[in-house]
Amino acid sequence: MKLIFEKGVKGRRGVKLPECDVPVKFDIPRNFHRANDAELPEVSELEVVRHYTELSRRNFGVDNNFYPLGSCTMKYNPKIDEEVCRYKGFTELHPLLPQLRHGGMLTQGALEVIYNTERLLSEITGMAEFTMQPLAGAHGELTGTMIIAAYHRDKGNKKTKIVVPDSSHGTNPASAAICGYSIVSVPSNSEGMIDYDAFVKAIDSETAAVMLTCPNTLGLFEPEIKKLAQKVHEVDGLMYCDGANMNAILGKVRPGDIGFDLMHINLHKTFATPHGGGGPGAGPVGVVEKLRKFLPISLVVKRNDGTYALDYDRPSSIGFIAPFYGNFGIILRAYCYILMLGKEGLARVSENAVLNANYIKEKLKKYYQVAHDPIACMHECVFSSVKQNKNGVHTLDIAKRLIDYGFHPPTIYFPLIVKEAIMIEPTETESKETLDAFIETMIKISQESESEPETVKSAPKTTPVSRLDEVAAAKDMDLRF
Ligand SMILES: *Cc1c(COP(=O)(O)O)cnc(C)c1O
Repeated sequence: MKLIFEKGVKGRRGVKLPECDVPVKFDIPRNFHRANDAELPEVSELEVVRHYTELSRRNFGVDNNFYPLGSCTMKYNPKIDEEVCRYKGFTELHPLLPQLRHGGMLTQGALEVIYNTERLLSEITGMAEFTMQPLAGAHGELTGTMIIAAYHRDKGNKKTKIVVPDSSHGTNPASAAICGYSIVSVPSNSEGMIDYDAFVKAIDSETAAVMLTCPNTLGLFEPEIKKLAQKVHEVDGLMYCDGANMNAILGKVRPGDIGFDLMHINLHKTFATPHGGGGPGAGPVGVVEKLRKFLPISLVVKRNDGTYALDYDRPSSIGFIAPFYGNFGIILRAYCYILMLGKEGLARVSENAVLNANYIKEKLKKYYQVAHDPIACMHECVFSSVKQNKNGVHTLDIAKRLIDYGFHPPTIYFPLIVKEAIMIEPTETESKETLDAFIETMIKISQESESEPETVKSAPKTTPVSRLDEVAAAKDMDLRF
């Protein structure tokens, strides 16, 4: 296939566009032309509307009700972000439109959005520069680990391992392993924090990096990061921050200020993009000054004349990790969200997220055992159903029973180090009334666990399909309706 370009063609309304290369026609070779019309199914508009409306009603999202999925930050996504994303100037862009390199101005707005978002994220996190390309949090971790490997290769360091706490998100060791590192997992202490002495013992001259989630996956802030960073830096190791939990510390703590060298952010979690079921997402990776040259290509740069361009000329770069502009729609939503809230607004996000989590923790701790009970948790709280286990009721049953009462279940059985874990992240967007209704329901389920455990164990009753046979569902998967 060949793209045919023309110079200075007329715009839609007869406005002459600036001199540029504009693709005007796809020249598809004859042998690829269709002989007959495609036999596409014909349905009326009404049938299409009914089909999609029906599908949307089978779904559950933040727009339906409370979605307290721990570690995933399922907050309300303001509709203004969606509206901006639907501006024609954005939706009609195509990745193959010429950048400035060809003398065109058609993508300058998109490049400016990416550039400005990158600058804002650097300011929010205390990093020197971000790549906006990674397409998910886990993809960001992989990119980050590739940067870690490039740094050590460049310095001639012999590094073989990456150290993680045993509370880490599964993607952390997975990303490190894909890059060829062996994983050293260090047990957490009885308070759910990193065991500083055990960590120091695990670090030696072959340690490439330490990967920590901040705040950690138990919803707790690690007080010893700075001290640990010093130890890691002594052996020329790097400190990687899994920033999926940024929702707890926006405007409060900048990972770059406490010793982290690189990090990823889940734009879809912290900066309000509807997500779930595996997408869509964006996991920008930020680095400190000494790692900038390894960032993947391309990077958006601002030139002296105020125009923007994609820079591919980066000899030390780890190379391509995603095509074109990254997940542009997600970056754009994050940009709107950050501009809308501003510095004070972002700090308030975290204050309210933390307040809401603590409210739930305090109200429920009489009924459910708190996994680790510090004076205050961060943006999520982790319970265990060990008390309910005595009546044969397990975390899975409690989660299913919540469905009967119209709530999405929280995260369950994660973090792995908490027996029968129930991990609740209310986020800042929920009202006190919603939190109270949820708390009341959780208390009711705890009472049901004693008075009528069978009801809880056989939930849900209100869904078209009752309790799935989880083993059969995994072994003999059938995705048809
Ligand atoms: C969600 C999450 C990830 C992975 O992010 P994805 O965008 O789902 O790939 C990594 N670490 C933590 C702590 C997370 O919560």
